Amino acid sequence: MSAPFDVRSADVLVVGAGPAGLSAATRLRKLGVANVIVVDREQQGGGIPRHCGHPPFGMREFGLVLTGPAYARRLVDRAIHSGVELQLGCSVISIDHSAEEIIVTCATHRGPLTIVAKRIIIATGVRERPRAARLVSGDRPLGVLNTGALQEYAYIQHLLPFRQPLIVGTELVALSSLLTCRNIGVKPVAMIEGRSRPTAWRGAMALPRLLGVPVRYGTRIVDIKGRPRVEAVSLRAADGTIETVTCDGVLFTGSFKPEAALARSAGLEIDSGTGGPAIDQFARTSEPRIFAAGNVLHPVETAGWSWREGRRVGEFVAQDLKGDLPSADRAIHLRPGDGIRYVVPQRLVPGGGGLDHLQLRAVREVSGTLVAYERGKAIRKQPLTSGPERRILAPTAAFSTADADITIGLDCQDTKTIRSDSACA
Ligand SMILES: Cc1cc2nc3c(=O)[nH]c(=O)nc-3n(C[C@H](O)[C@H](O)[C@H](O)COP(=O)(O)OP(=O)(O)OC[C@H]3O[C@@H](n4cnc5c(N)ncnc54)[C@H](O)[C@@H]3O)c2cc1C
Repeated sequence: MSAPFDVRSADVLVVGAGPAGLSAATRLRKLGVANVIVVDREQQGGGIPRHCGHPPFGMREFGLVLTGPAYARRLVDRAIHSGVELQLGCSVISIDHSAEEIIVTCATHRGPLTIVAKRIIIATGVRERPRAARLVSGDRPLGVLNTGALQEYAYIQHLLPFRQPLIVGTELVALSSLLTCRNIGVKPVAMIEGRSRPTAWRGAMALPRLLGVPVRYGTRIVDIKGRPRVEAVSLRAADGTIETVTCDGVLFTGSFKPEAALARSAGLEIDSGTGGPAIDQFARTSEPRIFAAGNVLHPVETAGWSWREGRRVGEFVAQDLKGDLPSADRAIHLRPGDGIRYVVPQRLVPGGGGLDHLQLRAVREVSGTLVAYERGKAIRKQPLTSGPERRILAPTAAFSTADADITIGLDCQDTKTIRSDSACA
């Protein structure tokens, strides 16, 4: 552990010991980079999976079906075994990239720690939007949580925050919260979804059916009542009727935002579509010595996806240390058009290479054609059927010869194939 006012140096400093950060660091060591430090503000490495006490994790990475904590432990063990130095209980509070070397200031329980690094990878993940940001009125009782907090109570602190909560949201993470509830003997009174369809795949909605949890679509929470604990909620149905439902907790799920405070305070360009740092196809942010990987780039992906992306970013950083990446000075921009919320990466430097795919998200449930325009001319089309939280991929190589900014959106003339809740309003 570091002494007060300690100063360390690193070839690469990775901020965040989740699947993305640990896989990037492990890859860097395997590629011969000598001094790789990973820091995390938590006392345990592994990121979000540490408190996802359910399977399936690790099929791609270890060829096994693991629970989240077992997967997190394996990621940490593999990183340490490869020679990565892990500093836990170490919160990065600032990144100064104004000088030749990057100076990172961390807070640890032993005092401040300064790390001077040649390259940084920001892999700080996502968080769910809390109640305050969702503008739900009413009392401020105990028992209103996000999934992350529920998992922390259930699997790390072994506490029972409620017995009969209402679950808000039908994203995959909402379904994982059903498993957490079942594991600790909690019986949700219902799941609600503001839209007319589930956010997760329809097939996945067999889970609440199996567990006997009713799902109400077109329903929003408008008020929370109770003191000191939650006693009831008011729900508004699609036809405007208001109903009071008795429960002892409210679990807000999904509605993810990148944990981008550090990137923002370091003055990196933030993409308004993702809320995370904007990158080029080699994961370089607007400061080319600072890279980013994992869910801080795109709310939200699975652990396996973040792990794989981290590995690739580790390779890019190793190439960059050898001077083998193309210059970041000249790039075209990729912008979301009609019906598209974001495109990652947001910039492409000439010459191709880098991440194999652009990642996009649609604003709503859509079925139509995705079109890329360069100087107003369609240069690529691909059929598309997707929902708001579903991954859409387009090959990066398809744009390697573009020499002007590109806009990617839905073809709004293609009205026959776009459903009634059109993204091209
Ligand atoms: C509540 C919740 C439940 C989820 N459930 C699942 C699931 O069941 N299955 C699944 O596949 N995916 C799930 N996900 C998606 C999850 O984000 C990914 O599985 C995966 O953890 C992303 O990896 P990551 O490395 O990008 O980020 P994370 O795993 O989030 O790791 C980021 C790390 O950065 C650290 N950090 C952040 N800021 C700082 C700082 N300033 N200084 C130091 N350390 C910092 C955090 O402590 C954290 O450990 C869930 C996400 C959430 C929010």
